[in-house]
Amino acid sequence: MDTLRQNDPAEIIAADKAHVWHHMMQHKHLETTDPQIIVEGKGLRVWDITGKEHIDAVAGGVWTVNVGYGRTEIADAVRDALVTMNYFAGSKGSIAGARFSQRLVEKMPGLARVYLANSGSEANEKAFKMVRQIAHKHHGGRKHKILYRNRDYHGTTVACLSAGGQHERNAQYGPMAPGFVEVPHCLEYRAADQGAPTENYGEWAADQIEQVILREGPDSVGALCLEPITAGGGIIVPPTGYWDKVQDICARHNVLLHIDEVVCGMGRTGTWFGYQQFGVKPDIVTMAKGVASGYAAISCCVTTEDVFQQFTDASDPMALFRDISTFGGCISGPVAALENMDILEREGLLKNSEEMGAWFKGQLEGLMDKHEVAGDVRGMGLFAGVELVSDRETKQPADEAKVQQVVAHCLKNGVIIGATNRSVPGYNNTLVFAPALIATKDDLGRVVEAVDAALGDVFA
Ligand code: PMP
Repeated sequence: MDTLRQNDPAEIIAADKAHVWHHMMQHKHLETTDPQIIVEGKGLRVWDITGKEHIDAVAGGVWTVNVGYGRTEIADAVRDALVTMNYFAGSKGSIAGARFSQRLVEKMPGLARVYLANSGSEANEKAFKMVRQIAHKHHGGRKHKILYRNRDYHGTTVACLSAGGQHERNAQYGPMAPGFVEVPHCLEYRAADQGAPTENYGEWAADQIEQVILREGPDSVGALCLEPITAGGGIIVPPTGYWDKVQDICARHNVLLHIDEVVCGMGRTGTWFGYQQFGVKPDIVTMAKGVASGYAAISCCVTTEDVFQQFTDASDPMALFRDISTFGGCISGPVAALENMDILEREGLLKNSEEMGAWFKGQLEGLMDKHEVAGDVRGMGLFAGVELVSDRETKQPADEAKVQQVVAHCLKNGVIIGATNRSVPGYNNTLVFAPALIATKDDLGRVVEAVDAALGDVFA
C-alpha cells in the first residue's frame, strides 16, 4: 500500500499515542494496546496500519460512507471545485449549492428549502432554532418545547444532548438546556417493559406522544423530533400504525414534525430517506452522514416552503433566520454531495440497499435458529440490528462485556461491526450493521459467517 510505504507505522502510532485524544475512547486501554489506524479504503474494504484487510460493515464506523471508499470521481470533482472557488460564506451563494439544493428537494416531494451546515448536530440545532423563532414570531415564545424520543440521538452539542434519549450520553454534561421533553420509545420487542397492551402496539406507542403533548399543553409544544428508524438506540423500526398516528397527532396539535435523517438519509433503508418508507410528510428534515459519504463535511436542514415563508417578512427586522455557519459555505460539501447522488443513481444503490438488505436480514434471522442469544433481528435496507439476550423468555439483555467480545471477535477475523450505545444501562446489547450500499451477497455472507463464529465462541 502506498500510504504505508510513505509512512513509518511505528512513528505514526507513537505520535497518535502521545497526542491524539480519540473520540469515545477510554485512553487507559492504549497503555497496553495500540490504536487501530485505518490507512486505506476501497469499496467495502479498509486496511489498517499493520496492513490487515477488513470488511467494513459499518460504513466508516458510524454509517456514513454510503457509496464506499476510493471514489475518485468525488475526489476529482472536489479538487476541481476547490481550485476554482473554495469558499465564500455568509449570504452569498454558489453554483454547487444551488444545483445540489434543487436536486435534493426533487427527491423530497413537499419540501422546498435547503439550509447548509457541517454536521448532524449542527443541522439539528438549526432546526431547533427555526422552531423556537417561529414560536417567538407567532406564539409569544410559548410554543417552544421540542419533544424527542427515548433512545433517539440527535447529536453531541448541549442542545442536541438535551434532546437526547440515550441518557448515558448526557448524564455528565448537565444542566441540559430547558424546553426539551422526552416521549417513550416504540420498540415492540420490549413493549411488555412499558406495560403496553399486546395488540396495536404502534398506535399505543404513538398515543404516548399525545399524552405528553396534552400533559405539557399543546400551546407549549412547537415540534416533535424523531429518527425515522432509531439508529444507535437499538435499530428500532417503528411498528405498523405508528407513523400515521404520529402524523395525525402533529397535525391536530399544530406541532411541527422534524425528522432526523442523519443516519437513514441517502438510501440507507432503500429509499432516498427513511421517512419515505412510512409515507410521512415532515415539515423539517435534517441529514448529514450519507449526504457526501464522508468525502466532505456537509449537513442540511431542509424545510417546507411554509416553514421557510415564516422567515421572509421584510417589514419585520427580526424575521430573518439569524443564523450563520462559517463552514456552511465550503464548496466541497455540495460538490461532493452532487457526485454522491450521481453514484447512488447511476449504480442503482437504493435498489441494492433494498434487495441486499432483505437478503442480509434473512441471513441474520437464520442465526436465531442456531444461537439462543440472538433474541430479535430488526432493520430495513442495509441497516440491521441483532439484539442479544441471555434468556429469550425474559428477554434479559446479554452481558454488555460479551456483546463487546462479539465485536472484538469479528474484528480479529477481519470484519468490522458495531454495537449500540449504552442508552439505558443494560440495553447496550444490539449488534449493528450498516455497510456501504454497494455491498454484495459475497461481502454480506462473510459478515454473517464472522458473526456466526463470534456468537458461537463467545456464548459457548
Ligand atoms: N442524529 C443522528 C440520528 C445521529 O446518529 C447522529 C450521529 N451519530 C447525529 C444526529 C449527530 O451527527 P454528528 O455527529 O454529525 O453531529
